[in-house]
Order: sequence, then structure tokens, then C-alpha cells
Amino acid sequence: MNCKEFEHWLCARPFHKNTPVPDAVCDHINLCTECNRLFRIDTGLDAAMDAAMATALESETLPHGLYEKIELNLKYAQPEHIQPDHAQPDHAKPPYLFLLSN
Ligand SMILES: [Zn+2]
Repeated sequence: MNCKEFEHWLCARPFHKNTPVPDAVCDHINLCTECNRLFRIDTGLDAAMDAAMATALESETLPHGLYEKIELNLKYAQPEHIQPDHAQPDHAKPPYLFLLSN
């Protein structure tokens, strides 16, 4: 691998951080100080973005009652709670059907 190939890989690499770095890339950044510097900047930015997103998500609070509504909808989405439409009047439908139909 040369520097141009490394730059192409760096720009096109999958964003998912669990994707392994190919051996050819490791070999090149171990020999080339400039590409090694670019790689460290790029991975540092990834880590900074991950930390910023984690911080942003930690500070978010769910609207009041949303968690309970989701839990209830998941509970009634289980197969034992699903009835054919003609078996129940509208007011007796599980909450998730009411929410989905409105
Ligand atoms: Zn290089």
C-alpha cells in the first residue's frame, strides 16, 4: 500500500468502529509517519464524536409517560394479545392498535 491508497482507504472506510483495520493499512501506518498522523487524527475524531454523542444522549430525558406507553405497546404487540379486527369493537382494541390506526 502507498500513501494514495491509504488516503483512499481512510476516506472510504466504513464508519463503524468495530470494522478491523486491514493488515496492509497497519503495515503502511507503521512505516509512514504522515499517514500514521492522519490515521491518529481520524481515529481521534471518531472517539471525540462517540463521546459527544454519548454525552448528548445521556442528557436527553424522555417525555413524561413515553417509556410506559412503549412498554404497554410492546406488551400488547405479543401474539397472545392480537385478535382479529372483527372479534373486538374499536374501544376494546389493544392500545397499540389504537395508536397505529390514529
Ligand atoms: Zn503514507
